Order: sequence, then structure tokens, then C-alpha cells
Amino acid sequence: MSKQYTPMMAQFLAIKQQYPDVLLLYRMGDFYETFFDDAKLASAELELTLTSREGGGNGERIPMAGIPHHALDNYLPRLIAKGYRVAICEQMEDPALAKGLVRREVVRLVTPGTLLEGSMLREKQNNYLAAIAAGPASYGLAYCDISTGEFCVTELSGAAEARHELDRLNVAECLVPLQTNLWLQSPNQRLRPDELGELAEAVPEGLMLTPRPAHGFELGAAKRALTAQFNVQNLEGFGCAHLPQAVRAAGAIVSYLAETQRAQLPLFSGLRTYHVTQYMGLDGNTRRNLELTQTARDGSYRGSLLSVLDSTRTAMGARRLRQWLLHPLLDPNAIAARQDAVAELVENRALLRSLTEKLSGVRDVERLAGRVAAGSANPRDLVALKDSLLQLPAIATLVAECRAGMLRALHPAPGELVAAGEAIGATLVDHPPISPSEGGLIREGCSQVVDELRVLMHDNKGWLAEFEAREKERTGIRSLKVSYSKTFGYFIEVTHANRHLVPEDYHRKQTLVNAERFVTPELKERETAILSGEERLFALEYDLFAGLRERLATLVPQLQELGTRLAELDVLGSLAELAVQKRHVRPQLDAGTTLQIRAGRHPVVEELLPAGSFVPNDVSLDTDAEQLMILTGPNMAGKSTYMRQIGLIVILAQMGAFVPAEFARIGLVDRIFTRIGAVDDLTTGQSTFMVEMNETANILNNATRRSLILLDEIGRGTSTFDGLSIAWSVSEHLASTVRSRTIFATHYHELTQLALSQPTVRNYRVLVEETPDDVVFLRRVVPGGADRSYGIEVARLAGLPPSVVGRAKQVLEALEKNNRLAQSLRKTLATEVAPSNQLSLFEPVGES
Ligand code: ATP
Repeated sequence: MSKQYTPMMAQFLAIKQQYPDVLLLYRMGDFYETFFDDAKLASAELELTLTSREGGGNGERIPMAGIPHHALDNYLPRLIAKGYRVAICEQMEDPALAKGLVRREVVRLVTPGTLLEGSMLREKQNNYLAAIAAGPASYGLAYCDISTGEFCVTELSGAAEARHELDRLNVAECLVPLQTNLWLQSPNQRLRPDELGELAEAVPEGLMLTPRPAHGFELGAAKRALTAQFNVQNLEGFGCAHLPQAVRAAGAIVSYLAETQRAQLPLFSGLRTYHVTQYMGLDGNTRRNLELTQTARDGSYRGSLLSVLDSTRTAMGARRLRQWLLHPLLDPNAIAARQDAVAELVENRALLRSLTEKLSGVRDVERLAGRVAAGSANPRDLVALKDSLLQLPAIATLVAECRAGMLRALHPAPGELVAAGEAIGATLVDHPPISPSEGGLIREGCSQVVDELRVLMHDNKGWLAEFEAREKERTGIRSLKVSYSKTFGYFIEVTHANRHLVPEDYHRKQTLVNAERFVTPELKERETAILSGEERLFALEYDLFAGLRERLATLVPQLQELGTRLAELDVLGSLAELAVQKRHVRPQLDAGTTLQIRAGRHPVVEELLPAGSFVPNDVSLDTDAEQLMILTGPNMAGKSTYMRQIGLIVILAQMGAFVPAEFARIGLVDRIFTRIGAVDDLTTGQSTFMVEMNETANILNNATRRSLILLDEIGRGTSTFDGLSIAWSVSEHLASTVRSRTIFATHYHELTQLALSQPTVRNYRVLVEETPDDVVFLRRVVPGGADRSYGIEVARLAGLPPSVVGRAKQVLEALEKNNRLAQSLRKTLATEVAPSNQLSLFEPVGES
């Protein structure tokens, strides 16, 4: 039996049917309402009161929860942050004029990957929407940020590579082709990885996945969508014509945006084809271990490398810096181009100072351009754009004489953009309101009609003051006031105490606690004149503003290009400032396989310590000579810091920055692998040891002669002998077969014996000074192996009770004296060194 819904509920249901998997906000007057399950969800997520209304026929009540329309900006971000997609359904005609039911339409689908609103975007991070497609031999990946106009595609050879890239980009939402009939049935349903088929291995854990109809991913449809979007004949010009999987993914993005953005298709600055092989490989582990953008311990930004690097002046600069940091380059020329610019700014401090000062006046041109393109820029956005554009001539003059191409890119100042800035300045006041529809935004002298209407409004103000004075006089009420409210219009307010003095021709309008409000025919008449004048004025101001915004929309491609240039300039300035302040030097990069750093420092740890107390250290590695460094030394000595600082210096060097050292020469590193302090991965149900072995396997299988490997202990999560055996054979394999530049920090002092059999293994240790009952950390890395870990001393420093520390010393002594196995092991390792003899390592000695 079909239910007898009211016409409005029937309309709601018809619309909702098209959007089963999103939360539908349905505009009713001053509210956005949700119904049925959406209402239950919204009330739970947003702490709204769940009410109900009639409408289902047979007296059935329909659950309902609403938010005031003006509070959308508060509630929408909360829904999006929780990973919901939200459809905004508006009234398409004025209810007062509509015949019968008001027409309603979904005007926009807001999803985590398709945000434009400043209030929902993180200023200093990109917000990426990605799509992924699997082909017979490769994966296609496309991603875009509609708030900045960036759109990129690539093809990846395997699932793991695709997963790493998605992870590195930290995408907010990823489109995947629908497998079977698996369409999400409700807003809180999430796609499970096992429902993804061949893509299951290619998406990182926890990523928000949006299933899309498979036909949007078809090559033909994708090509059509892309050529239409960019208004081109074919895709040759974008460099992806021969990459079918990439094209499929990019096409899926375009068709999704057509559906979500509806009214305003975003404008992309182009489609950029890239290859992950252009960048140094940095998987999630390495990014976390080296704390590039957040700390490993609590994920905070403070304490990360980025936090030390970033003194950019603009949000777009901060976003670009993050991109550079996560994508170190492999092309020596591209790196040199950045270094040249940094070097010139380091040499010319006056230029650096002037440039950063000018950049401080520049705003987020990339995102402002995005909002101009979407038609959603408000008056303040345009003024921000103007302020930025008007810096261009001064910036152009500053860089005119520069040698570095990346600096000179801003010379000459683009004339039409400067003119656009001037046009904004001539049209809008310096500090306009946010809303373009309530007047007060157009500059005096810009429009004669606006000026005349304003004079009229001003006259009205005078008239009102004069009227108030007159009425005070006439009634003798000194506290009488003429005021205005949005709901009641103009009125005369009289306190209750003076109630008896109110003349006959006052008509009561409203009673308050202390006062009463009145109108007179004369005031009413004036009100009509004022309000109609105001309405005309506001409409006119709006039209002038909208016209300006439309003219600017034609300049969006140039604005995007400018945004890129300014963002890069900002990053270069930030890197130069860092180099100056922290005495960083320009590293030498070449195609070789050495790694030489003199007096290198850890850029973050150095910051945390008192000035001058960080102890610099050298490193010298070479694939063919000193390839594997076995680093021993007590707990707390500084081994991890040393290893990390080498990784960070290499990353800084290849992103084009200067490095914290006296000298650095680096043979380009194709990928950095790290295995540092595993944490139990409870979410995947793997033990610490299993995770550690997975990571080790990954390194042995994927490292090349150009890689850098940083290992902080291997085999700790199992028995000592199992662990030592694994550590030994892994090191041996690294030295004999993989040959990457490697540092292996370990407490297995037995590993120092490896140097006897492997010519490329070198032993180093971190120095400590021993006093009768204390150790002093010297933090210096010197050749040679350590034979003790001083674990007990460190345990004492950590505050273990003295009795426990004392007992531990006794036990250690006893063990060392009596453990024949340990002694024989040392002996065995010293003599039985050839890999073919490895088995004999574990034959009990002395029992045969
Ligand atoms: P464990 O073997 O216990 O993991 P570790 O040898 O890896 O210890 P780190 O964690 O690297 O030791 O360093 C311990 C502390 O020593 C750091 O937090 C830092 O404060 C200090 N430190 C490390 N290196 C230096 C240095 N070069 N100069 C000054 N202080 C340093």
C-alpha cells in the first residue's frame, strides 16, 4: 500500500531517491531540514533536537531535525569533518511568488574532496580529491584541488606504489569505480577495502572512498569529459594521451565534479602529467620516522621538520613548501634552479628582506582565484586579491636584476593583473563587509547613481535626527528615541515611565519590558521612502560588485599562474631565511653514489637544545667503499638523532634547500628507507615483530644502489639469538647484494665483526666518557665499535629504584662471567665469517 505523503514530502522523497548515500539538507524557509534516517543521523552528529512532523498519511510522523540557514557555515564543516557527503537542496523560487509547491533543486554536493569554503579548508594544506583506476599492467591516479585549480595525473606500476602516492598526497576523498551493484545505501555507510576488488591493495587504510559508476571510468567517456573540460581536441598537449589508466582516473574526477559542483564547474590551470620517478621515494614509514610534517609520538606539527622550515608569508607558500618537502627531486638541474635562487637571496640580504616584506602583503591568490572562478568570492576576497596584485610592480622591480630564473619569473609584472587590481581598488572600499548584498561596498566616485542614493540616505538620517528632536520637544519626553529594527522598521521608543506623555497620533507597535514602541503616519511614510531607496542602493552595489567579479573570472588562468609563481617565491624566501639564520650551506649534488657530510646537525633537535650545545657529526658513505655503517653506542647516546639527521639533510638537499652542515656532497638518493622503532600496529592486528619484519622485507626487496637505508635496530622483538641472526644476515645481504648506502644502529655489538668479512662495512660508535659510576654522553660519532650498551646506567638515569639498578648490575656481571654461550658466540662470529659457514654460527661450541 503506497503511503499518502503530503506533496512536499513527496517532493523530498523524489529528490532523496537520487541521493541515497548523502545527507540531504532540504531548504524550508529559514531552515535546512533533514528527514527520516538523515534526521536521526544529523541530530546525533550535530546534537540537534530530533522532532517530527506529520506528512506520512495515516497520522504517521516523520522524524525531522533542522538547522537555521544562517548557521550552515557552522554545521556543514562538522559534517564534512566526520566524512559525510552533504547535498544542499535550495528553494529555486520565491515562496511568496510560487504557485503551489516551491520548486527545489540540489545546487551542490559538498564532499570532503570538493571544498571551496575557507572555513572548511586548512589554510596551509591542499585539499585533494583523487580517483584511481586499475588497468592490466598499471594503476592510473589523478588528483585535484578545486580550491587552487591544481590537477595532476600519473600512472603507477603497482598497487603498493599507488598506495604510497595516495598516502603521500594525504587525499581527502578518493573516487573508485563501482565493482558490482555495490552502491552506498546510506550516508553513514563506508566502503570496505575487501569490496574494492583489484583496488583493495592500492588504497591506504582509512581513506574516504566514494564509489562511482564504472562508466565514468571508461576510457572513451573519460576522454570526452576531459577534452570538454579543457576545451581541446585531444590530450596530447597534457602529456597523458598515452596513459589510458591515468586518463580514466582524470575523467572520473571531471564527471564527479560536474555532478557535485553543478552550478560552477571549477577552472583548472591545466592537467599536469607527472611520474613518481621524478621524485625521491618517501613511503609513509619514512615520512613518519623522519617526522617530516608531524611528530611520530603524537602527530603534532610542532617538532616536525616542516615546523622548523616554514617561515613562509602566505598560506599558498606554506602549501607549496609542504609539497616540496614531500616531493624531493631527482633531477639535478631542477634542484640547482632552486638552489640558485636560494643562494642569491642568501647573498643579497637586502633583497631577501624587501621581498619577504612585500610577500607579507600578498594573500592566498591561488584560493582567491578559485573562489573567483566558482563565483563565490565575496567583497573582502576581492579586496584581498587587490592588495596582492598591487604588490606586483614592486616585486617585479626587486627581482628585475636577479640572476636566478626562478626569482626573475616575476618580472615584468603582468600588466592586466595589475590593472585588475587597480579596477578592484577603484570599485570597492578598502574595508567592505563580507556580504555583497547589504550595501557599503562601492567606493565613492565609482558610480554616480550610488553616490546620489547615498546622499539621499544621508538626508534621511538628518531627517530622522531632526524628527526625533522635534518629537522630544513636542511631547516633553527627553528620553524619547527614534530607532530601527529589521523586523519592525523605524519606530519611536518611549519608556513606561513616560507612557502618560505619549500623544494621540502615536500608534503602538510593540511592548518591551521597559518601554513601548510607536509609529506615526509621518514616520511610516518616511520609512517607505528610506527602505525603497536602500533596496535600490543595495541592488545597485551588488550588480557593480558582481560585474567586477565576472570580469575577474576571465583572468583566472593568469591568476593561477601568478599564484604558483608567488608561492614558489615565498618558499624560496623561506628557505633562504632559514639558511641565513641557521647557518645552512649549499650542498653539492651529483649523479654519484657518495654521501659526505661534514659537521652535520639535526635541524629540529638542534632547535630544542640550548644554543651551541648540539654536537655536529660527520658521515662518509659510498656504495663502493664505505657502504654500510654499523653504529653502536650506549642507549641515549644519540644514534637515532644521528641517523635521522642524515636522512633530513638528504631530503633538504634534494628539495632545493640549504642544509645544516659545514659541507655536504650528496650523490642523488632515489629513495630513503627507514626502519626505526616499530609501534604495535593494533589496527591491522600485527605484532611489533611482524611489522618490523615486513618493513625489513620491503627494504631488502626494493632498495637500489641509489637508495639510502636507515635502520634503527632489527630483530629486537624476538629472542636475542633469533634477533641477532636476522640482523646479521640482513646486514650481510645489504653489504653483498643490495649495496645501498646504509646506516645500521644496533645494540648487537657482535655485528661489528661483520667488518672483518665484508670490505664495505665500517664500524662507528657514539662516544661516551665513563666515570666510576656514571656515563657522560659526548654525542660524537667516531670510528670503532662499542662493546657495551650502558643500559643499566641509562635505567638509573631514568629513575629506576637504586635497589633494582644494583641488582641488575649483579645479574649482568654473573651473566657475563658465566654465559659460555655468549662468549663462544663472539668467538664464532670472529672466525666463522663466510656466509657459506653461517650455519655453524649456531652450533653450540664446546659440546662437540
Ligand atoms: P637509544 O639507543 O636508547 O634509542 P639513541 O642512541 O638513539 O638512544 P637518541 O634518541 O638519538 O639516542 O638521543 C637521545 C637524546 O640525546 C636526544 O633526545 C637529544 O636530546 C640528545 N642528543 C642526541 N644527539 C645529540 C647531539 N649530536 N648533540 C647534542 N645532543 C644530542
